Amino acid sequence: MPTKNNLKILFVSAEVSPYAKTGGLADVANSLPQTLIDMGNDVRVVMPRYKMIRSDMSYVTDFPVTMDYWEDTCIVRETEMQFKTNKESKKLPVYFIDSYHYYNRDGIYCYMDDAERFIFLCKAVMEMLPKINFQPDIIHCNDWHTGPICMLLSEHYKKFPFYSNMATIFTIHNLEYQGTFSKDVIRFFNMGEGIFTPEKTEFYGMFNFMKAGLVYADIINTVSVQYSKEIQTVEYGEKLEGLLKKRTKDLFGIVNGISYEEFNPSEDPRIFKNYDCKSSPVKKENKYALQQEIGLPKKDVPVMGLISRLTGQKGLNMVLDEFSEIMKHDLQFVLLGLGDPFYESGFKDLMKKYPDKVAVFTEFNAPLAQRIYAGSDMFLMPSRFEPCGLGQIISLRYGTIPIVRATGGLAETVTDYNADKESGNGFVFEKFDPKEMMKAINRAVNVYKKEPDVWQKLVERALNLDFSWNKPAQKYMELYHLALDKKKK
Ligand code: ADP
Repeated sequence: MPTKNNLKILFVSAEVSPYAKTGGLADVANSLPQTLIDMGNDVRVVMPRYKMIRSDMSYVTDFPVTMDYWEDTCIVRETEMQFKTNKESKKLPVYFIDSYHYYNRDGIYCYMDDAERFIFLCKAVMEMLPKINFQPDIIHCNDWHTGPICMLLSEHYKKFPFYSNMATIFTIHNLEYQGTFSKDVIRFFNMGEGIFTPEKTEFYGMFNFMKAGLVYADIINTVSVQYSKEIQTVEYGEKLEGLLKKRTKDLFGIVNGISYEEFNPSEDPRIFKNYDCKSSPVKKENKYALQQEIGLPKKDVPVMGLISRLTGQKGLNMVLDEFSEIMKHDLQFVLLGLGDPFYESGFKDLMKKYPDKVAVFTEFNAPLAQRIYAGSDMFLMPSRFEPCGLGQIISLRYGTIPIVRATGGLAETVTDYNADKESGNGFVFEKFDPKEMMKAINRAVNVYKKEPDVWQKLVERALNLDFSWNKPAQKYMELYHLALDKKKK
């Protein structure tokens, strides 16, 4: 379908790289808008201004936002994110919703008043638009924090001419986090009780932010076709499968890309030595440099990397269960991750048990992540579910071969190595079963050790893949036009 790339798009996200990041959402919120700008659209991004955001920014405007029976001041600030495309320098406007009361805290999420904090974001975004004189065709909402924007537009703002032609698209980056809070929080909308019905936002007696997005958005999508199907089943639907099935005609899947400028082994300043598909043997020098940096013996054994939020979703219990089996191989294992203390201490203990083979870093460290992507030979991602997954895509970009479970975006981006056909870009297992994972690991290590030429071909194949945003961004354009067409009907 031909699409005109002249839309005005507001992209709303609770996290945007490099300002604030806990996971893949932040990467998408930075690189998809950049690509859309590059295609000719007028795109602006808006996010809360958390305490850790220290970038230069300028004051734009301020106004009161009514929250229940009081008013809180919203200050809008603006910065321009510089980015490069095809050696050309461009700028992405980023607005920050600043509230000392709600966002001047050390972290991003997990505060007692998160419902109030993100209702404030949603209301402030809607109020901001006429004040900054930006009238988007599309408001692109992302994950639960922004779901109520779709509701606010539909239940309230669309009756005003300024807003009446705007369409919404709601992207599910992870259905597990829905933002469910006690009914009491609806008072912060100042819209009465009418929004709290089973057809609207009520969810087992609670208010559900994600449901507000799923019910009211013109178009819904998630970050792989496979996950868009999975979430319509009881197994993956997180109790929202009924609603998702009801909206199946408006529900799409678009696999994420990554920024080919930021994640570029031939130019990345964070890695030890740059390389590309023609100089892939240089990758080994990155491995030796990584081993030195993380305190493991410098030698040519396979290095297996794992970079992840440490949560149940990521299949880490299987890794812990099978760890002694993994260690039977002459390999090194490096983990960078933050999250559930159970996993943090579990992996730290393994580092003590295998000091010459295991390195564990429980911190958020983007430069170290790049050196692990570049210096590892294989990347383990045995997720229980995975909407898209960026870890495996970044590793492929750095010629690091993923070992994954066939779920969601992992199933869509990694194909199993097939010796007969000389095809595939990784090692894939189907069942969420530690023994199955172990078989995939064994296969990978065997190819690495016994068939170095085959492994080298795998690396080169990975380095030649294209996971840039070009194609997925084109698909987003199609969805935006679909949302606008729907609105006109
Ligand atoms: P999710 O969004 O579920 O966290 P993804 O694989 O989609 O998982 O995206 C994770 C992103 O966060 C990747 O860019 C990964 O490199 C990065 N990341 C995760 N944990 C860390 C960490 N501890 N330090 C640096 N980067 C991290």
